[in-house]
Amino acid sequence: MAPTMHRVIFLGPPGVGKGTQAASLSKELGVPHLSTGDLLRVAVAARTPLGLEAQGHMDAGRLVPDDLVLRILRDRLAAPDAAVGFLLDGFPRNLAQAQRLEEISPVESVLSFELPAHLLIERLSGRRVCPKCLTVYNIATRPPKSPGRCDLDGAELIQRPDDQPAAITTRLAVYAEQTAPLLGYYRRKGLLQTVDAHGSPNEVAGRVRTALR
Ligand code: AMP
Repeated sequence: MAPTMHRVIFLGPPGVGKGTQAASLSKELGVPHLSTGDLLRVAVAARTPLGLEAQGHMDAGRLVPDDLVLRILRDRLAAPDAAVGFLLDGFPRNLAQAQRLEEISPVESVLSFELPAHLLIERLSGRRVCPKCLTVYNIATRPPKSPGRCDLDGAELIQRPDDQPAAITTRLAVYAEQTAPLLGYYRRKGLLQTVDAHGSPNEVAGRVRTALR
């Protein structure tokens, strides 16, 4: 019998908690967590030509051109661990990307995480990230054990350039204009389920599991 495929998309505005949920669910399902934002940040840190081209768009909170993102995603999807499925976090971000993804791979479910804008802003401005292992903290709701340091490797936590107020405003507008239309797109395909993202990561994780059951 063929193994069950888990090809899942996490949709939702920046700050809604997709990355946190994807990190724990990917371990449970045994499929890789593919965050195009993380893949791009690695390219930026490594100063690859693609990273250098992406950086200005990212720091300002705008979308990186589709062709660059597609290139990085295609390479990642070709890795052997993605043969059993994947959990896509932050892709697709517009209709053209959704159509390109369809040419690459089918998906079984799309979960859309929902939270009011004032709570998104609160989560984004409190977010701190470990530059080494990419673990995400929040100074209000998920602080590290020792202030400013990663629990796992002791690295000094940073605030993402795009978590500054001006970039947050741009990212929320970009989501509303370019990404939100994907909700209708996947609803019409019968793939969409919504998840209430209020509450603790554990509470949201419970709703995610119920939705995917
Ligand atoms: P994220 O970590 O998902 O919030 O992504 C951070 C930034 O990376 C975004 O604001 C975009 O500049 C860029 N990015 C990530 N994923 C995509 C995508 N699918 N399409 C275009 N840009 C992306």
